[in-house]
Amino acid sequence: MSRIAYVNGRYLRFRDAKIHIEDRGYQFSDAVYEVCEVRGGRLIDARRHLARLKRSLDELRIPLPMSPRALGVMLRELAARNRIGYGLVYLQISRGVARRDLAFPPGPVPPAVVATARRLNSTRNEALAANGIAVVSVPDNRWGRVDIKSVGLLPNVLARQAAIDRGAREAWFVDKDGAVTEGASSNAWIVTAAGTLVTRHADHGILRGITRAVVLDVLKAQGLTVAERPFTLAEAYAAREAFITSATQTVMPVVAIDGYSIGDGKPGPVATALRREFHRFAETG
Ligand code: PLP
Repeated sequence: MSRIAYVNGRYLRFRDAKIHIEDRGYQFSDAVYEVCEVRGGRLIDARRHLARLKRSLDELRIPLPMSPRALGVMLRELAARNRIGYGLVYLQISRGVARRDLAFPPGPVPPAVVATARRLNSTRNEALAANGIAVVSVPDNRWGRVDIKSVGLLPNVLARQAAIDRGAREAWFVDKDGAVTEGASSNAWIVTAAGTLVTRHADHGILRGITRAVVLDVLKAQGLTVAERPFTLAEAYAAREAFITSATQTVMPVVAIDGYSIGDGKPGPVATALRREFHRFAETG
């Protein structure tokens, strides 16, 4: 069965799915995106992902090409057409096609909408979570508005590759004050020796992860102590537990940072419990 993509109102086979060479997403990263988990053929937390998409578009003054509801219908249809049981949908909206010039196109230009879907391997992901992952730290050299989910991900690309080159799976960005901001494609968390869960506060320096928000809801419901504040790399090395959150990995335990074992070097009980509980708190639709 060939994979199906959505391009500007049409469902097309991958080989027929094309965008224009003067698409501003392609030329300037003048585009935003979202990634949603698919489980049992249904979208996880689509409402919040589409609300964040609208916010990213608003920040860049790109008009919303269709309602969040219509985008949700399209993404569900795409998952169904690709027969995704467990996997992800990817949605990208650019400012559209125009003669190459940095300034916004002078006239109205329709935004370009592209979406794809693909399967994920749940056995592989569960095996990863059972063992935990290693992360490495890299300097946070990104622009000052990473709360906007733009497709300009070059620092993230280089960070992830640095992690892989050093035998790890994720990179944690560290700002000029020595504090961890977030992962290359995830939010970063630690559990301190005193049992407080710490993740950086959501300012312009991190992406306000949807998984992060759901985990905060779980923690509040269970009365656990949470602090949304910066934490240093030294604090992370000494943490009882560490983990990352993202739509496609939900809660993934971290067992080593820069080669230092975290806790006893095995996935911790808090991260493991949060991973188990996560979908009871996420919205399925
Ligand atoms: N931070 C960055 C830089 C990301 O790219 C992502 C996800 O791709 C996240 C955090 C996690 O966000 P979410 O939980 O919405 O997937």
